[in-house]
Amino acid sequence: MTDSAENTGDVFSPKNIPIEPLISSEELAKLRKTNISLENRNYELRETVRQLRLQMVSVESERDQFRREARKYKNEIQQMKTPPLVMGSVEMLLDDGRVVVRSTTGPQFLSNVAENVDRSLVIPGAQCALHPQSFVLLEVLPRKYDAAVSTMEVEEAPDVVYSDIGGLKTQINLLREAIELPILKPQLFEKTGIEPPKGVLLYGPPGTGKTLLAKAAAHETQAVFIRVVASELVQKYIGEGARLVRELFSLARERAPAIIFIDEIDAIGSSRSVDAYSAGDHEVSRTLMQLLAELDGFNARGNVKIIAATNRLDVLDKALLRPGRFDRIIEFPLPTKEERKTILSIHTKKMHLAKDVDLGLLAEETEGFNGAELMAVTVEAGMQAIRHNRSTVRAKDFTEALSAVKRGREQPEARELPPGMYL
Ligand code: ATP
Repeated sequence: MTDSAENTGDVFSPKNIPIEPLISSEELAKLRKTNISLENRNYELRETVRQLRLQMVSVESERDQFRREARKYKNEIQQMKTPPLVMGSVEMLLDDGRVVVRSTTGPQFLSNVAENVDRSLVIPGAQCALHPQSFVLLEVLPRKYDAAVSTMEVEEAPDVVYSDIGGLKTQINLLREAIELPILKPQLFEKTGIEPPKGVLLYGPPGTGKTLLAKAAAHETQAVFIRVVASELVQKYIGEGARLVRELFSLARERAPAIIFIDEIDAIGSSRSVDAYSAGDHEVSRTLMQLLAELDGFNARGNVKIIAATNRLDVLDKALLRPGRFDRIIEFPLPTKEERKTILSIHTKKMHLAKDVDLGLLAEETEGFNGAELMAVTVEAGMQAIRHNRSTVRAKDFTEALSAVKRGREQPEARELPPGMYL
């Protein structure tokens, strides 16, 4: 039977069974399409998630920044609400741990010291901050010089040289020996076994070159130049002037070699009168005493030299003039005729002078003039030339300048000068 079935072709075979497709080709195409669109959608959604995550990170960092700003403003508001601390300086330490502090506004307080303050820093003279109500010492401030003292320091060495000074030969030699030698050649003093000079006092009428010479000494030694007008040391509150003097010397010691130039020393160095009862007079004499202590060298002075200047030697306290304070007291007289000629030639060095200008004659006509007035004559002569549209200065410009300066000397109120110009 099997053979006949094979022969006839009706034999059962799986190859011959017609397979009915499960889904139609249209449906398959549709499903494929749906699948693609779902995959696209999936991709889109993943992308959106990624974007949102990125946004979240940036929003979170923005939030953190706002939080930080909010904290900063809260602190600022807090700081604005808290009253400022009172500044003072420690004067005395008591055995029971309390301290006597003088506030910068004047009064003294017996204060406790806050727990967190490092006790080793609480020493007499230390600057501190006090609570405004309880006056408890809250903080010891870092060592800093008073702004008034630090601004006295002249950063650059002055550019005045000895050849810019007319006459004053003896004064220059005396000053060089007393100020320059100890700074530039200290070994000479060591070898000879003598103490190097500490300072000099220059006195004489105004405008005779005292400041000029001090500047030249600073230039020559390349020392730090600290210039102070003594009246700046007179302060409103008790003890402040003395503190400034202390700080001035300690700044100079720190920056050594240094030259302290105290101009118009008579403002604090005038004789202490017995009937100086006012608080102001006491404060001035306290400042002077501190200056004397510094001059005496209670504190090692190091390579610091002092040049003081005054127009009024007669009013100075004897204590300032006694030996041991200033090693040399140098007089600056008005210039002689020859010196006046040299000063005039120094100040006309850069000017174009006409042939008719005779500086010798001008020196004769300027009897009694100081260096500053001689300089004023040359400047005014130059101004006359400018007014006449010339760059060469003629003899007649000097004649006019001379009479203008003379008029100014005789009647200071009748000076015929353009506003802003002083002779
Ligand atoms: P004061 O006592 O008023 O402070 P001073 O004696 O310190 O006066 P200086 O400031 O040195 O006088 O001088 C003022 C100006 O006068 C100087 O800048 C300088 O131009 C001129 N001068 C004074 N003396 C001389 C001089 N001997 N040689 C050259 N210029 C001088």
